[in-house]
Amino acid sequence: MTQPQRITVLGATGSIGLSTLDVIARHPERYQAFALSGFSRLTELEALCLRHRPCFAAVPDADSARHLQGSLLAAGLETRVLVGEQGLCEIAAHPDVDAVMAAIVGAAGLQPTLAAVEAGKRVLLANKEALVMSGALFMQSVRRSNAVLLPIDSEHNAIFQCLPTDYSRGLADVGVRRILLTASGGPFRELPLERLPDVSPEQACAHPNWSMGRKISVDSASMMNKGLELIEACWLFDARPAQIEVVIHPQSVIHSLVDYVDGSVLAQLGNPDMRTPISHALAWPERIDSGVSALDLFSVARLDFQAPDEQRFPCLRLARQAAEAGASAPAMLNAANEVAVAAFLDRRIRFTEIASIIDEVLNREAVIAVETLDAVLQADVRARAVAGQWLVRHGR
Ligand code: NAD
Ligand code: MG
Repeated sequence: MTQPQRITVLGATGSIGLSTLDVIARHPERYQAFALSGFSRLTELEALCLRHRPCFAAVPDADSARHLQGSLLAAGLETRVLVGEQGLCEIAAHPDVDAVMAAIVGAAGLQPTLAAVEAGKRVLLANKEALVMSGALFMQSVRRSNAVLLPIDSEHNAIFQCLPTDYSRGLADVGVRRILLTASGGPFRELPLERLPDVSPEQACAHPNWSMGRKISVDSASMMNKGLELIEACWLFDARPAQIEVVIHPQSVIHSLVDYVDGSVLAQLGNPDMRTPISHALAWPERIDSGVSALDLFSVARLDFQAPDEQRFPCLRLARQAAEAGASAPAMLNAANEVAVAAFLDRRIRFTEIASIIDEVLNREAVIAVETLDAVLQADVRARAVAGQWLVRHGR
């Protein structure tokens, strides 16, 4: 009998991490959790370790490591607990690992995800911010190391499924005209515009179709999530921003579409449950049961589409602008957005000020070439500083 594949789950305590472990637990003969990381909610990480018995766990600091190591030893587990970014990079690149689920949120996931890529792993990419920040470097590294990069974002996973197996010679070569990236439009799609400045973090996090972490929920409400996904799609599929059209589809049943030159449009459909793309990427090119129920088209009944409104969703315009500018612009967009979303979740700024902060950062900071990881990290730091100055200037 073949050995189960050993999986590292970066961000195991999060929404994607938990869904991944749910799928892994359904297939013990195929998959085994090799290492799990958590940043907060460490009691949950401990419970996950007791359940999945990984070889390694990774936590942010030495105190939490000592505490977790003590509890796991007392429970008779041999799990070794590692610390900090170095610990994350170690579990991502460990020679015994077959696949890495990159499900840390935000820029914090960049270096561990790159470590998995550089080690030539099968990388299941949920952490879109990592690719947005460092696109060119990230994709060069994928090619150099022969890592297998599989998209977890439901839209990109859908596009991947609608493309032919080999599109390495470019989209034009396989007859693709455009990519249609679907978006639910989030909780504020129909809210009267004058009420947008007063929405609360709770309202922003109450997504109509998906249950997700808080940062991506706010990004979905502002449609920055779709903006980041547009940049993500450009890198994953070697597309120009102009080849990608955003389509609002409130039911979140079609997860994206590919439009071919002969007029064929292929779509991937399914219930909105991340276990579908996770299972797809874990098993690809095979298929496994994900635990997601069969799509009932009769209860879906209808599929609606609309063009996005950039007045309502200025973040989408800012992201397209950063995608067109390239170089350091996407890293700055991402960093400014992370600062702004954290401030919004802390109730220090209004929802509509998220876009104001990003706009200011993109206008104030020159776009520069980013050919090294250091240059990417510096662009990130500078953008955070400019966003921080906005907060200070406005007394937040
Ligand atoms: P989440 O907030 O639920 O989980 C985030 C995980 O990252 C947690 O395990 C947390 O402990 C860890 N983490 C947070 N800050 C960290 C830090 N500084 N260092 C190390 N670890 C840290 O988020 P999520 O919804 O699971 O999203 C994770 C990623 O997947 C994001 O990039 C998101 O855009 C992407 N994604 C999520 C969904 C979804 O449905 N949830 C869908 C598509 C893509
Ligand atoms: Mg998505």
